[in-house]
Amino acid sequence: MPDRRRAPGPIDRRCAIRILIVGGGCAGMAAALHLQRGLRERLRRGEVHLTVVEPQAYLTYHPLLAEVAAGSIDPRHVVVPLRRELTECKVLTARITRIEHATRRAWADAAGRGEPPAPVELDYDVLVLAPGAVSRTAPVPGLAEHGRGFSTVGEAVGLRNHVLEQLDLAATTRDPGLRQAALTFVFVGAGYAGVGALAELEDMARYAVRGHHNIAPEDLRWVLVEATDRILAEESPELADHTLDQLRERSVDVRLRTTLESAAGGVMALSDGSRFAARTLVWTAGVRPNPVLRDTDLPLDTAGRIRCLPTLQVLGPDGRALPGAWAAGDCAAVPDPHADGAPCAPNAQHAFAQAGLLAANVLVALEGGPHAPGITEYRPEAPACSTSLGLGRAVAHTRRGGRLTGRRAWWLHRARHLRRLPSSERRVRVLVDWVLAGFFPREVVPLGRPERAAPADERPA
Ligand SMILES: Cc1cc2nc3c(=O)[nH]c(=O)nc-3n(C[C@H](O)[C@H](O)[C@H](O)COP(=O)(O)OP(=O)(O)OC[C@H]3O[C@@H](n4cnc5c(N)ncnc54)[C@H](O)[C@@H]3O)c2cc1C
Repeated sequence: MPDRRRAPGPIDRRCAIRILIVGGGCAGMAAALHLQRGLRERLRRGEVHLTVVEPQAYLTYHPLLAEVAAGSIDPRHVVVPLRRELTECKVLTARITRIEHATRRAWADAAGRGEPPAPVELDYDVLVLAPGAVSRTAPVPGLAEHGRGFSTVGEAVGLRNHVLEQLDLAATTRDPGLRQAALTFVFVGAGYAGVGALAELEDMARYAVRGHHNIAPEDLRWVLVEATDRILAEESPELADHTLDQLRERSVDVRLRTTLESAAGGVMALSDGSRFAARTLVWTAGVRPNPVLRDTDLPLDTAGRIRCLPTLQVLGPDGRALPGAWAAGDCAAVPDPHADGAPCAPNAQHAFAQAGLLAANVLVALEGGPHAPGITEYRPEAPACSTSLGLGRAVAHTRRGGRLTGRRAWWLHRARHLRRLPSSERRVRVLVDWVLAGFFPREVVPLGRPERAAPADERPA
């Protein structure tokens, strides 16, 4: 077989074509599924190799994490095992650490946490970049000790247990200061994660206090701190205003143009001068493009995203498509025609839609080259926005501009996410969770924290 390592030219038809997908999240997994479907016969004949590199063995469907925290969905049902769905692909549970597109090579690290790096070199012909975004942190005193994140299933389950434990603590303690701190919940950052998690947990806690003889719903204090002048920056301003009204109606203390200055000693000091104790601090203050993009030779915009053409091809130095390089999702600066060409907002709707088009364009480019006439531009549908605010509560806008709240919005929101979840088996499981929840009371007991398994003779009998 001819050696084509370090040969950046056109794909050599005598060899199998190697497609490398970086990231198995919304965009990466959806692109892999579409490519798997479109190339099934060639994959089976060994003419194409499709490799997905992802540090987790599963996709996490973030938009439903808040419902995991609220206990409406089993945690396992919002993750989709990659190997089960991507049967024709090679899935590597590893992290890409560097990409040199000029020689079409990438390096992956398969080591576990705390272990020495175990780099693996991967050669490819076609690169699909979808490593998403990472949480943005800030040097706030006390944040490392008192803050918790909200972007993984573990964090969602941990936060649920923590909130329920605070209710138990407040009901038991005789210290009024401790009780007040236990009943104060602060969320910093009013994007999807902050708004969704706060709204779902507030709804759950309101229900849970019915079981506590000495806590009333009015005793709970929920504070949402946002540095900018609006919430839900990833959604339309109309939906954001609508959501803000709903939260304020529920007595959520939303502080816009405000930042957290310190959380030292568990005392929250805000930039508006207020100071109060809180035992719950959730840090969801935005995302930034995955830093691994800086370890590539691909062009980045000022925010650190991959500069893309509307066809989802990476922009080359000549202003045309860079052969063999594609990107989609939160990591990609793709012009949004609905926003005067500004980059698409980082959301799941764009990630899935871009992945579908990217895969279709890759199939065309495999046959006709990077400038083939069949390669089409990303023209997203009008945004279909919605956000869940608890059981039976949501705000949603229809594509035709209609505004819904309450149960109708909630059903629409759930239907949209059910449709997007990229596994029919997971769709059924989530649906069953929702149906069962309609028949039984809510489960509101804390299950403690996941602990290191003790050696056998230390375990309680
Ligand atoms: C809590 C939360 C709630 C949200 N709610 C909503 C919502 O209601 N509606 C909505 O539209 N959007 C929502 N979003 C945003 C939405 O989830 C993202 O926009 C979407 O997941 C982006 O898809 P992606 O594929 O670009 O990134 P992701 O889905 O994040 O996937 C990126 C993948 O790349 C992997 N990866 C990272 N680094 C590497 C590496 N070095 N090598 C290989 N793989 C790597 C990651 O492990 C991850 O699996 C929410 C996000 C969060 C965190």
